[in-house]
Amino acid sequence: MISFNFYSPEQKISFPDWEKKTIYVSIKRDDMIHPFISGNKWRKLKFNLERALAENKNHLVTFGGAWSNHILATACAGATFSLKTTAFLRSDPGINNPLIAMCRLFGMEIIYTDRTEYKNKQALFDKHFSNNSNAYFIDEGGHGPLGSKGCEEIIASLQESYDHIFCACGTGTTLAGLQHAVAASGLQTVVHGVPVLKGADFIHDEVHKIYPSDPVATLHTGYHFGGYAKTKPELLRFIEKFVSHTGIMIEPTYTGKLFFAVNDLISQDYFKPNARILVIHTGGLTGFLGMYERFNLDLGQ
Ligand SMILES: *Cc1c(COP(=O)(O)O)cnc(C)c1O
Repeated sequence: MISFNFYSPEQKISFPDWEKKTIYVSIKRDDMIHPFISGNKWRKLKFNLERALAENKNHLVTFGGAWSNHILATACAGATFSLKTTAFLRSDPGINNPLIAMCRLFGMEIIYTDRTEYKNKQALFDKHFSNNSNAYFIDEGGHGPLGSKGCEEIIASLQESYDHIFCACGTGTTLAGLQHAVAASGLQTVVHGVPVLKGADFIHDEVHKIYPSDPVATLHTGYHFGGYAKTKPELLRFIEKFVSHTGIMIEPTYTGKLFFAVNDLISQDYFKPNARILVIHTGGLTGFLGMYERFNLDLGQ
């Protein structure tokens, strides 16, 4: 067992019109878990780390893009638990940015990988680590059954009960864990996912692969704003309003789209009066570092 103490409170938040409509929104502050092993990336790493240690591995090997919150979380977790780390980075050789620089500070080895090679992660792992029995494979984003298992723990940790729980979806691993834990606990809560990429119906299949007998969660596929890491001025304006009203930071790639969706659904009277909603803040605030110029360009800031 690894020991890692953290604090992730549930907080009520207010925003213009939500109270008028008697909709009660709370936020689960998984962004407060850790500045670098943040949000659902800690949840998804936890059981992978336990398995790696149980199998006497001392080297985490993983995958991601140049602004991957998961790569940063893995780099920091490796340093924390005395494990080596390597990331195959899907990008042109030599690319650097604040996130990659932080990964290197945590001691991570970065291997630049072109898009064709990146497609077959197992082959990459085998090619570089076939002679290294200490290496432990973690899929991109911490995707997979062990990742979902960690996200199940969010439900058991809740202090209050809710009619609706929302999370942002990339791979759907977090959504799968939430939906499974809700169904397994016999709760009536409806679990909702807001995909941040286009054409996200694949998420149902991903969830089904991890937990074949679970009921399907509700997906709101209209809030991707053009696709992964794409934005529109409307989204940035909402983020600005939300952050300045609540004091809670969100960013354009994941949690901005999530809260935009919740706010939009509230304004369309999607929920019954007196509904209690929990929104999971999945962290990832370093993503803002890669996006701040958009606020300049689109909002003139
Ligand atoms: C990675 C990430 C997600 C996506 O989680 P999935 O389990 O892949 O759906 C959501 N929010 C944030 C902040 C993330 O960093």
